[in-house]
Amino acid sequence: MFQRELETLSRKDLVRLQEDRLRETVERVWHRVPFYREKLESTGVHPTSLRGLEDLHRLPFTYKKDLRDQYPFGLFAVDRQDVVRIHASSGTRGKPTVVGYTRRDITCWAEVCARAIAIAGGRPGDVFHNAYGYGLFTGGLGMHYGAELLGAVTVPVSGGNRSRQITLIHDFAPRGVAGTPSFLLSLAEMMMAEGVDPLDTSIEYGIFGAEPWSEEMRQALEGIWGIDALDIYGLSEVIGPGVSMECREGKNGLHIAEDHFLPEIVDPNTGEPLSDGQEGELVFTSLTKEAFPILRYRTGDIASLTREACRCGRTHARMSRIKGRIDDMLIIRGVNVFPSEIEPVVLGMKEFAPHYRLLVNRVDTLDALTLEVEVNPEFFGTKGGSHFDPTDDESHRLSANLRQRLKEILGVTTEINLMEPGTLPRSEGKAVRVIDQRDAMLRR
Ligand SMILES: [Zn+2]
Repeated sequence: MFQRELETLSRKDLVRLQEDRLRETVERVWHRVPFYREKLESTGVHPTSLRGLEDLHRLPFTYKKDLRDQYPFGLFAVDRQDVVRIHASSGTRGKPTVVGYTRRDITCWAEVCARAIAIAGGRPGDVFHNAYGYGLFTGGLGMHYGAELLGAVTVPVSGGNRSRQITLIHDFAPRGVAGTPSFLLSLAEMMMAEGVDPLDTSIEYGIFGAEPWSEEMRQALEGIWGIDALDIYGLSEVIGPGVSMECREGKNGLHIAEDHFLPEIVDPNTGEPLSDGQEGELVFTSLTKEAFPILRYRTGDIASLTREACRCGRTHARMSRIKGRIDDMLIIRGVNVFPSEIEPVVLGMKEFAPHYRLLVNRVDTLDALTLEVEVNPEFFGTKGGSHFDPTDDESHRLSANLRQRLKEILGVTTEINLMEPGTLPRSEGKAVRVIDQRDAMLRR
């Protein structure tokens, strides 16, 4: 463990630490961020009236919209000269959201990322191939500082340029790699096309995040690369990567760095707190941040929490994999559909490759879902030399089978388009899994 004492605190000591830090955080925003001062006053909360964690639910929520409204620096709680770094979201819908860091914030962030790499099995001296994007996006620089602090030989390769990545993996012999699951899959695919087996590389563990992925994707990544594939979670509004990390020993939920980030699960509709084990919207309050403290941030991510003991010995609560995002939830003919539920079904059938995307259209005023999925070249290649033909009986049976399984999971009918291997676009970073064409059709 990178910080054993902090990572194994007893629940009692951890709660005491969280309560002290929560009071400090509320005090800070009360005095320094007019937005929060107003919100706290309107809900009747004064920093001195906070007793303990039982009062957490009295604090106001913060929403993504608040960050946009306060663009660019309205939520900063320090003077400009104390900010040493800015990150920002891509802002695909309107203005980006901007977050800031003091020097101490950067140190804390590096610590939780160093912890995360160690949680995945990383050690000082490892060569660490960091394929997260560098720039305004927090993924690359977050992991970078963590890897350096851990004492790893950090390779800031960033995303894209697959052939250079393959050369560097061969020449530098990394033990660890970080990136999106879809990018590492596309890297493996290119490697195999060049006659190199990813199993023969030096990589032993992979830290994967920045897009939702499934248990089946873990099996695919572990099988192809011969690694431990582990889930990392984070978001710039809270700090970036390193908010939570799945341990190699447990592979069953992500340990939240609870001394820095206070987690809750709430009902996404009512905002009421939910108990451990119940699925709902993940909410975080920062406990140590100086430049950009945040109270009860509604992440929009669906997950559950557990405080049960973990075999790795860490005491910090674990969150489940992200089941989906409230924003990404599609409403198809009145049914709530989470696109992330499709992946386990596709990857659970050996006839398919892990390359797929969902198209959402409107046909005669009715929503229509179409799943484009590539067939597995291995499966089709080994059947007595038979080749894939999307119109033959076998393909029809396969489509019908997948349609039936998806109907059971999603509750709506999905058209299936079987695709030739290698025909869908490959990920250069975050995979584009859903193309919603309904708005475009309305504009036409
Ligand atoms: Zn664990």
